[in-house]
Amino acid sequence: MRTVRTVAELRAALGARRDAGQTIGLVPTMGSFHDGHLALMRAARAASDYVVVSLFVNPTQFGPSEDLDAYPRDEARDAGLASAAGVDLLFAPPVEEVYPEGFATTVSIDGVSEVLCGDTERRGRGHFDGVSTVVAKLFNMVAPDVAFFGQKDAQQVVVIERMVRDLDIPVRIETVPTVREPDGLALSSRNAYLEPAERERATALSRALVAAERTVAAGDTDAAAVLAAAHGELDAAGIEPEYLELRSTTDLSPVERVNGSTLLTVAARVGRARLIDNTVLRQGALPR
Ligand code: AMP
Repeated sequence: MRTVRTVAELRAALGARRDAGQTIGLVPTMGSFHDGHLALMRAARAASDYVVVSLFVNPTQFGPSEDLDAYPRDEARDAGLASAAGVDLLFAPPVEEVYPEGFATTVSIDGVSEVLCGDTERRGRGHFDGVSTVVAKLFNMVAPDVAFFGQKDAQQVVVIERMVRDLDIPVRIETVPTVREPDGLALSSRNAYLEPAERERATALSRALVAAERTVAAGDTDAAAVLAAAHGELDAAGIEPEYLELRSTTDLSPVERVNGSTLLTVAARVGRARLIDNTVLRQGALPR
């Protein structure tokens, strides 16, 4: 595996592959790799001839009170894990390569960027503006045939899919299922912030999702009943969610009754960590 830091080196490496007719898969990341990231890399390895992983802690998607400086970084460890997962090229640019002096463009997607994690009462749409802008740039830099994103960040997937359709970006988006610890906690770089007792309490998020899945499996698809089941698990762990909501999987509009496929999504602070998790509820499906 090679590591490159400039767009010029990246394009030079990819040009030869493209000329040889190879397909290119891209996995955008902020590093601090865990099995969730590795699942994306393996999916990319299986579906494309040449696998590029970008490693860039994107400052523009962090709010003023968020953890940009504290965000875990260990490029040497990440490079070893990516190489072992079969990645061909690691693109790890410095901030000035992505945002040179005078950088002035924002890609901003209305609607889907303004709810849930983008609600102005919470982090504001600026978070997703940062995400969509950097992902648009990565798509232009790499020009991948296919790009891989985790279901863990369900809203991010909806935002990116909207952007790709609206801007006619010729890339296929693949979503990879959430990778979890054996006790259900969704893997996240931010789990590193959890003290042992908080780590235990944090499992309530996935238990809340399972309680909702059970309610739907038992035939109760009303939003109030489904959300009450989920709230019960969070309450028992003393967790007050930032949000716990049922939304359409396609446009994130609010949903009153679980239908074909409905997103149940939760965000909560546990200690220093802001955690998110979600599940797709389907009428008639069995719980996990
Ligand atoms: P991040 O480095 O946190 O920006 O994440 C990079 C990619 O990994 C995103 O597409 C995430 O959705 C994905 N990802 C993060 N955690 C998980 C997980 N537990 N399971 C699957 N994908 C994940």
